[in-house]
Amino acid sequence: MANPPKSNLSSATIAAQAAGATDAETGGVVPAVHMATTFARDENYAPLNAQNVYLRSHNENARVAERLLSQLEGAAETLLFPSGMAAVAAVFRTVSNGSSVVVQSQIYWGTTAWIRDFCTRRDIALHEVEASDPAALDAACKTHSPAIVWIETPSNPWLRITDIAQAAHMAHGVGAKLVVDSTAASPVLSQPLSHGADIVMHSATKGINGHSDVLAGSLSMAAADDPISHMILADRDMAGAVLGPMEAWLLTRGMRTLPLRMREMSRNAQSLAGYLLDHPAVEDVLYPGLPDHAGHEIAARQMTGGFGGLLSFVVKGGAEAALRAVGRMQLFHRATSLGGVESLVEHRHTIEPHTGIPEGLLRLSVGIEDVEDLKGDLGQALGQ
Ligand SMILES: *Cc1c(COP(=O)(O)O)cnc(C)c1O
Repeated sequence: MANPPKSNLSSATIAAQAAGATDAETGGVVPAVHMATTFARDENYAPLNAQNVYLRSHNENARVAERLLSQLEGAAETLLFPSGMAAVAAVFRTVSNGSSVVVQSQIYWGTTAWIRDFCTRRDIALHEVEASDPAALDAACKTHSPAIVWIETPSNPWLRITDIAQAAHMAHGVGAKLVVDSTAASPVLSQPLSHGADIVMHSATKGINGHSDVLAGSLSMAAADDPISHMILADRDMAGAVLGPMEAWLLTRGMRTLPLRMREMSRNAQSLAGYLLDHPAVEDVLYPGLPDHAGHEIAARQMTGGFGGLLSFVVKGGAEAALRAVGRMQLFHRATSLGGVESLVEHRHTIEPHTGIPEGLLRLSVGIEDVEDLKGDLGQALGQ
């Protein structure tokens, strides 16, 4: 949805009212689900509704969710995709063969693995760099003149923080677009476009939907008339990576409580981070809300209302001790993913053994349960 009306309302109000979406036909305060894949024309062969011709190009339920996300992100335009990875792919498919890209190292493993393969097949020079180190990012930009600079902040599962405004300055200095995977923050805690990013990407499967029951992704653009935005929109339409109406409707429903959920998840995670920091069985806690975290100051500057529900910690005693603790957990589900109302735990080293993840690292996605119950579960699992 292009150019949503500018709103001075707070994100809690925008989200609760789904950016004003109702069902005009019935008076329903909730929008209807429109499942039609094709739309009729009149006797003169003009579409009855010029906005709707065929579902792959126009989807009213997606437009509602896109309008809401645009308002939350402060974006000119948002496009939904059937997964976060489809959104990642949509960005990289705009890069010409033979050019180069700079991508943050040690980010979401699925992104890294797909980009490596894609760049190899397309003869694109991929430069992976520790983007939370400004000198390293600056050098990579100046040396390689990339088309795209891709960062993820906070990063998953290392919780590294990259200064978005600084990264935007460096990217723009060499004519690159800055794309930020802001999945762990959600549009409630961080609006990267306001710090100079060109595109914000989300796995909407995570906090944005928040109930572990919709797979979706999004790209929110600072400028709707930028050639890259046109390319992405045309490719989505023609190549068909569109989100179905039911998923889009569920996403809108989930987003109504997004600010509430992010606030509670952040509060719980902050409290658990402090608890784990003091725990004798714990070696290290990675959470940007901790004052000693390397990215705390930057995170405090570019995030508002909390530091998110994603938290990693390292158990003393390596893989064996970590897996023993995980096996004892009763409230934290042993499952991948993040951002849902229910808390999850993951032993990332089992999933990606060769990427430098500490063997004792456990990644928590902290939900909205009572924090004392969560502490109790971690305590008994770690052996007090
Ligand atoms: C999950 C995730 C993705 C991929 O999204 P899907 O919806 O699973 O395709 C991308 N980036 C981050 C940070 C993620 O956590």
